[in-house]
Amino acid sequence: MRIGVPTEIKNHEYRVGMTPASVREAVHHGHQVLVQAGAGAGIGCDDAAYQAAGAQILPDAAAVFAQADMIVKVKEPQAQECAMLRRGQLLFTYLHLAPDPEQAAGLMKSGCTAIAYETITDERGGLPLLAPMSEVAGRMAIQVGAVALQKANGGLGVLLGGVPGVAPAKVVVLGGGVVGTHAARMAMGLGADVTVLDKSLPRLRQLDEVFGGRLRTGYASLDATEEAVLGADLVVGAVLVPGAAAPKLVRRAHLARMKPGSVLVDVAIDQGGCFETSRATTHADPTYVVDGVVHYCVANMPGAVPRTSAFALNNATLPFTLALADRGWRAACQADRHLAAGLTVHEGQIAHAAVARDLGLPH
Ligand code: NAD
Repeated sequence: MRIGVPTEIKNHEYRVGMTPASVREAVHHGHQVLVQAGAGAGIGCDDAAYQAAGAQILPDAAAVFAQADMIVKVKEPQAQECAMLRRGQLLFTYLHLAPDPEQAAGLMKSGCTAIAYETITDERGGLPLLAPMSEVAGRMAIQVGAVALQKANGGLGVLLGGVPGVAPAKVVVLGGGVVGTHAARMAMGLGADVTVLDKSLPRLRQLDEVFGGRLRTGYASLDATEEAVLGADLVVGAVLVPGAAAPKLVRRAHLARMKPGSVLVDVAIDQGGCFETSRATTHADPTYVVDGVVHYCVANMPGAVPRTSAFALNNATLPFTLALADRGWRAACQADRHLAAGLTVHEGQIAHAAVARDLGLPH
């Protein structure tokens, strides 16, 4: 199969659909990989690295889209990319189609077959192609929280780990899923005093088994959440209620009762945020202050570390990319119901029931 890798064109997107290591694997499987010149520049991989891995470099996106049987990307196709897709061509990328009728119309018009990363499932009921980005965001939440706690940035002026003779900072993580676990791990690694609150007892048991006495866990009742938040130096919002907006766990009235200079990092901002005072910010201007409390609410946190993010994403996508290329999408989806769960658009129709329902379209 001819696999095409165009340069991402969404604003501030530096990741790339395939790293040179993934290209090498695909070439090893007998496929031809066509990479747009400069596609890997944002992750520090130049065209020579792709050529060394066996890719052919094409001058522009038009050439990649015209020649490839399958396009592997990161972000949902923009309007000019939808216009280059054709009937029978396979697209493998994040789509996030449900709230995006314009993109849905573009994809249906193209006649392509689109498989979305975000709805592919695994044996444990997880979403394996979303998990790597949650891992990145969770770990990053502590890094950005630590910086926001510095005095010059409006923070309380405390070091997460303290020093001998001075107590560490109190970090509270709301939601102990993928983001929350990785945030907790990083905060513990820096020596902070860490509490994770979750509504799921099995989840709390698992965390307790893994981290033992180094981590406090709590059931996320209203009482426990309020008490933990009011005493915290840094709060990480990492909750997810699948298919719903994030619940508002910290209200504006709480802010005045928190320590002035304490920090809220709302990772759940891409689902509307779990603090009442959250509003989406960008990497260019990531924080703002309400009632003395610093807020960090960047919706695409992994975008700040595209190199780590692209490698992490490729580790998860590569087996599926190879299955699609080796067998063709139909046979690959017949053989793997988890991959089939990603099938979203086919021959002008929305092929995913929940996405069609959200778009108000037939399925
Ligand atoms: P997850 O499903 O692995 O974990 C969510 C956890 O929240 C679950 O353990 C669940 O039991 C818990 N929860 C639900 N309601 C709760 C409540 N009221 N109180 C306490 N806990 C509650 O999800 P995840 O992969 O960790 O993602 C968490 C959020 O981070 C999602 O909204 C996701 O979209 C977002 N995210 C944002 C970025 C970003 O760049 N901002 C990147 C990745 C993920």
